[in-house]
Amino acid sequence: MSQPRIRLGMVGGGHTALIGPVHRIAARMDDRFELVAGAFDSDPARGREFAETLRLAPERAYGTYEEMLEAEAARDDKIDAVVIVTPNFLHFPVAKAALKAGFHVICEKPMTTTLDEARTLAALVKETGKSFVLTHTYTGYPMVRQAREMVAAGEIGTLRRVEVEYLQDWLATAVENTGSEGAVWRTDPAKAGQGGAIGDVGTHAYNLAAFVAGEEPTHLLAELASLVSGRSVDDDAMILMRYASGAKGAILASQVLPGNGNNLSIRIYGDKGGLEWWQERPEELWFTRLGEPRQLLRRNGAGATAAAIAGSRVPAAHPEGYLEAFANIYRDAADALRSPPGSEFIPNANDGVRGLAFVAACLASDRAGNVWTKIED
Ligand code: NAD
Repeated sequence: MSQPRIRLGMVGGGHTALIGPVHRIAARMDDRFELVAGAFDSDPARGREFAETLRLAPERAYGTYEEMLEAEAARDDKIDAVVIVTPNFLHFPVAKAALKAGFHVICEKPMTTTLDEARTLAALVKETGKSFVLTHTYTGYPMVRQAREMVAAGEIGTLRRVEVEYLQDWLATAVENTGSEGAVWRTDPAKAGQGGAIGDVGTHAYNLAAFVAGEEPTHLLAELASLVSGRSVDDDAMILMRYASGAKGAILASQVLPGNGNNLSIRIYGDKGGLEWWQERPEELWFTRLGEPRQLLRRNGAGATAAAIAGSRVPAAHPEGYLEAFANIYRDAADALRSPPGSEFIPNANDGVRGLAFVAACLASDRAGNVWTKIED
């Protein structure tokens, strides 16, 4: 018999939001979730109004997340999980309250604004036994999963170098001064955390490197800059990394480089071969065995690995993309919520701690004059 849909309550993701609508589409794609409640906006009245457009029952359109958690906890048909799609500074208090109220959590990155908060939250996840899913989108792409499986299977040999770039241009001018909501909170350390680009796109890059390589660096050296004058967080970062195995890595993260949209890429090399993937051409993975011609591997095509096949919805050459990748995270989240811990692919609270440890190490390295710095365990 098919299992009932998992009931979601969303915090954030109101009518002006960027990522909330993506979560709602992704959650529906495989029909395992149902959005039944929400506190969608910083303005309670606007949030309730927006809930109407989603056809939620009026009594489940809440003004604040506190109201939602209290009222839902008392219902027979209560929500199962809370989806957190607010600016960063709210992830910690909302997640903490949701876990304590007995709900699973599906949360946006970065998990919190500080490493201390991240550790506290990870401990609470353990203590409550609830599932915590961190939506690092890019781990949902079939060709990223294929790259991870190929690296694990030894196709590139012993790891030598991982290079990840996440380059954008939407903060290339002081758009925060024009009132752009997403830009305002992202450039305010009290709302975004001390990291700017390193928190916003750098944590995705770090997570992607770890996901594909299957190992994490122990040390890094960072040079951070605020290239738009007057900005109080970094908007451009160059980071070198060292691995215990002797491998090396580099992350370039920037939000101020003209011509870049969501230019995320990973190149990973071992002693026997290399793999290369670009987010803006997500269906392609380039593979080279040392001494042989480069091969173009396509999603769900010849040579596809088990995870790439499982993560594909339509045959090769019918395009899939960002929304399907996000839906793969939701599909795995459904499994994780029903029988923890779920798939190896699903980013969790420990990945959230690693992301904040990366941000903390970048800040410490940069402030100390760009020196090699340990990434805390
Ligand atoms: P946004 O500014 O576009 O939207 C934030 C939403 O949260 C708005 O609707 C706002 O009204 C609402 N909100 C603010 N305070 C609230 C409160 N107290 N109660 C309820 N709602 C409240 O932000 P965004 O770009 O959608 O980013 C949201 C989060 O998602 C951030 O943490 C960001 O880092 C992350 N994000 C992740 C990805 C990804 O690829 N996984 C992409 C974009 C954003």
